[in-house]
Amino acid sequence: MLSSDEWKKRTVEGGVVLCPSCDSQNVTMGACAVGAYTNYQEYVCENCGYEFLAMFCLVACVPGGINEGNDA
Ligand SMILES: [Zn+2]
Repeated sequence: MLSSDEWKKRTVEGGVVLCPSCDSQNVTMGACAVGAYTNYQEYVCENCGYEFLAMFCLVACVPGGINEGNDA
C-alpha cells in the first residue's frame, strides 16, 4: 500500500492515477464532492476492488470557462 505522499508523487510524475493498494492503472472514477477549498474524487480499482478518494486543493483562479480550451 502506497502512503498518501508516495501516491501523490507517483500520480504527479506519471500523470496517471494508480491504485494505492495494487499499483494498477485500471481505476474508475466515481462521484466527485466539491467543497469551497477541496474536491474529493472517488475512485474504485477494477483490479483489486480497493476504493479511495483523491483530494484536490484550491490553488488559484483563472479567467475563462471549462470549454475554452484552457488545457491544464
Ligand atoms: Zn487495486
